[in-house]
Amino acid sequence: MNSKDIFNYLEIIEFQISKHKDEIEKLDQEIGDGDHIFNVLRGLKEANSLKEKNINEPVDKVFKQIGMKIMTTVGGSSGALFATLIIGMSKKYDNSLENLENISNMFSEGVEAMKIRGKSNVGEKTMLDVLIPVAIKLKEIKNEKKMNLVAEKIKKVAQEGMLSTKEMIATKGRASFLGERAKGHIDPGARSSQLAIEAICNELIKLEENL
Ligand code: ADP
Ligand code: MG
Repeated sequence: MNSKDIFNYLEIIEFQISKHKDEIEKLDQEIGDGDHIFNVLRGLKEANSLKEKNINEPVDKVFKQIGMKIMTTVGGSSGALFATLIIGMSKKYDNSLENLENISNMFSEGVEAMKIRGKSNVGEKTMLDVLIPVAIKLKEIKNEKKMNLVAEKIKKVAQEGMLSTKEMIATKGRASFLGERAKGHIDPGARSSQLAIEAICNELIKLEENL
């Protein structure tokens, strides 16, 4: 995997999330202010706008540029949080995206940075309820060589994490103002994160099938 692949994955994520635009908008209308899908799509568009200039740059530089771009152009808590995740990942890049252990280290570093930035952890009805379990699972299976197995496992963990937010009350973000009334609604950030992860996993499975 190189920078070209990264931009390719971003396009795939944008395509999949766009398909769920109305659903995500509704989720944030129910327990937030409705702008989450706008912020996510804006972030993806800004990230993709860096493609031409950066496609041949090293992966860590590309992650850093994307993170900075999102940080400076995307609003909402999710803009700053996703930017922090991506910049955090850029700091742990170890010259290869072929090795799952490296990917796992990068992802964990990004998630840790997000936890600090958001002062939050698992169980608070946020995107971290998807991202933290995924980081843990990646670490657990870092030696697995079959990428389709990795993708299936990660997809499942992300799905479970997203669904787990439904019955939670929120202790961070706008949904925390709602108290018990947030129950029964999936967190929009958890849904968009899960869809992004699922899009990457499905692409990996597809690639493996075509080998
Ligand atoms: P805003 O809440 O400022 O309108 P968005 O609507 O773009 O921003 O994003 C909302 C999402 O951000 C929530 O669904 C939740 O997943 C996530 N979020 C909000 N606050 C935090 C936090 N402190 N830590 C982690 N994630 C958070
Ligand atoms: Mg919002």
